[in-house]
Amino acid sequence: MKSTEEFKNYIGGVWQASASKKTFVDLNPANTDDVIGHFPNSVKKDVALAAAAAKEAYKSWRLVPAPKRGDMLRKAGLLLEARKDEIAREMTREMGKVFAETKGDVQEGIDTAYYAATEGRRLFGHTVPSELHDKFAMSIRQPIGVAGCITPWNFPMAIPTWKIFPALLCGNSVVFKPATETPKAAHLFVEVLIEAGVPEGVINLVHGGDEAGKETVANENVDLISFTGSSETGSMVAKSAAETYKRVSLEMGGKNAVVVMDDADLKLALDGVLWGAFGTTGQRCTATSRLLLHEKIHDKFLEMLIKRTEKLKLGYGNDAGVDVGPLVSEAQLKRVQGYIEIGKRDGAKLLTGGKQATTGELRKGFFFEPTIFAGAEWDMRISQEEIFGPVLSVIKFKTFEEATRILNGVKYGLSSSLYTKDVRYAFAAMRDFEAGITYINAPTIGAEAHLPFGGTKQTGNGHREGGWQVYEFFSETKTCYIDFSGSLQRAQIDNY
Ligand code: NAD
Repeated sequence: MKSTEEFKNYIGGVWQASASKKTFVDLNPANTDDVIGHFPNSVKKDVALAAAAAKEAYKSWRLVPAPKRGDMLRKAGLLLEARKDEIAREMTREMGKVFAETKGDVQEGIDTAYYAATEGRRLFGHTVPSELHDKFAMSIRQPIGVAGCITPWNFPMAIPTWKIFPALLCGNSVVFKPATETPKAAHLFVEVLIEAGVPEGVINLVHGGDEAGKETVANENVDLISFTGSSETGSMVAKSAAETYKRVSLEMGGKNAVVVMDDADLKLALDGVLWGAFGTTGQRCTATSRLLLHEKIHDKFLEMLIKRTEKLKLGYGNDAGVDVGPLVSEAQLKRVQGYIEIGKRDGAKLLTGGKQATTGELRKGFFFEPTIFAGAEWDMRISQEEIFGPVLSVIKFKTFEEATRILNGVKYGLSSSLYTKDVRYAFAAMRDFEAGITYINAPTIGAEAHLPFGGTKQTGNGHREGGWQVYEFFSETKTCYIDFSGSLQRAQIDNY
């Protein structure tokens, strides 16, 4: 199918083409003959228009009672629920992961909507006793202004909703700049927000690549930036945002490990490793990309793992029975191929996979065989760098302490996992694994919408998405004092 449909930006309540008149094409990565549509390749001027519209709309949106804003988000959740299968099918078509996973992606958005709706009736501040007579003291939560939300393609619904629902709930207006790989999902999401009643100018959608992204960060009318993407881009975003003193939340790359101890339930660990490493074709920020095996179970576990890996079925994610979809793009395919060469050259042992899959229909897309390297050293490039594909590096260890050192010996700190029956190791892992998330007896993937999500080291800059914590990022704390004594009372002066 070759759609010639032209999609638009949504700015100040009007669907409109880019000032550049240029577009980019959106393809199905499982079959590049399938053209989904053409989207605006936006330039500085488009973002400036969107930011100005958002600034104007903010003036009245900030005054809408938070529970009423929450009601709109509840409606958005209901609409996502009603359109879940339809939206998920389009997402699979656009970015490749299997239908069950894109349905999960939409479900995460639904859960986030319902959480946000109830947060409208919380948004707690504090009341605290004043140190002076007849004086009342409290803190309240206020919106900040225009939120620039820049998102990647691997969770085209969950990640935008993680940012945009809390931003709106807190009373900010939004400029949304999605990834060029998943513009259709962004379009469908904005349709839902409009139908849910989010007013004109409060949500603005600007498609495009790095020019649009850069201007979202630089524009003077944008007050804060919530970014998810690679650590390299995130670092540029932070530098640029500093020039206009913006608040910035960065959620970036990962190099996550599963540790399997010799006392672990190996069948359970096997299911977890397969899901963590090859779910979403390894293109999750929390994907399992290193597997640390205790020397006593190393050979046995590896044998079990290879058998199961070779049974995984590659194919179009909207077809029944498919386990693993394609990589998202040709660029991503080349990147993964490059790491296979690096792994071989550095001396790791390629045990299975390692090639583009080209049999039959697969030749039309960016399919790659699930790949396992054994004999990897902790400091090889395939054990250190984010590959973002279905490639697992297996490292052998002797003690829990050694496994902890290896797990921590990377620049990222997103997710981590330990399989053991020993409660002492479980608690030591929760304390000592340098990561924003630690799972015990579960894979590195599986975040829940109502808990904080994010990472340490070069994965993040201290903020979190999800749960209660993200509402702090999208709101400002204001301290208010009401003196009803009728006379001048001086704090910070020695009254005692
Ligand atoms: P990317 O960094 O290439 O792009 C992310 C977004 O930034 C896109 O919308 C892109 O257009 C925009 N962008 C590009 N250059 C920009 C610039 N100079 N200024 C502003 N915006 C710019 O990342 P990607 O390939 O879309 O996504 C994959 C990466 O995202 C991986 O590194 C993955 O680990 C990470 N990721 C992290 C999380 C997390 O929560 N930690 C979640 C998902 C993905």
